[in-house]
Amino acid sequence: MSEYSGDGASGQPVRATGRPRPSAVLLDFHNTLAVVRSVDEWIDEASDLVATGPVSVTIPRERIRNVWGDARRLFPALDWDLDPTAHRHAFVSTLSHDDAIPIDVAEALYAVMPNQWMLNAGASDFIARASAAGARLGIVSNIALDIRPALERWGIATAFDAVILSYEVGCVKPDPRIFRLAADALGVDPADCLMIGDSAHDDVGGAALGMPCLIVPPEGTWRAFALASPS
Ligand SMILES: [Mg+2]
Repeated sequence: MSEYSGDGASGQPVRATGRPRPSAVLLDFHNTLAVVRSVDEWIDEASDLVATGPVSVTIPRERIRNVWGDARRLFPALDWDLDPTAHRHAFVSTLSHDDAIPIDVAEALYAVMPNQWMLNAGASDFIARASAAGARLGIVSNIALDIRPALERWGIATAFDAVILSYEVGCVKPDPRIFRLAADALGVDPADCLMIGDSAHDDVGGAALGMPCLIVPPEGTWRAFALASPS
């Protein structure tokens, strides 16, 4: 991968120097390519599906924001990123645990979850520039839902040469096998493929194959997009 200079502290994207940009880029989905809009909007949309009418304002927002971390503690042995049924169960059971959220509300929140995804800052511009420059683009995600309808909705589905989803391929990040599958799908050596993600645990598994990784929090992903963009 390129050697980069600058720290972006001035608010300007850090720029690359030295060797060329990677010929292929893999993106994590959650909190990299996409982020979730506000929990209040999520609850509002779910309310339309609840027979008892608008959902109470007392619904604990933190329970929703922390659902997957809480699910990991409640169901440590459940591999929900490999199984859509387990994925739904983990979500609904975690939200309704201790009667914090009624089950019908939890089910409604799950049903409208894909509608809450929106493109992260800088993603559209990066995808357009990378595609125009002929870079190979892929997504590699631990998820048990099909994200392709969201890609279609955003008008970027055709920009990706590979969409590798854990529940479809039977392995999860950081298992190097899923990164090998992604690089093979793009037709590149892992060493020529940059992985951008937000998890210093999950998204670095390709390093075992020589794949460079950029790990950034969701609010800083635009900097990684700037680094990986064609000049
Ligand atoms: Mg992520």
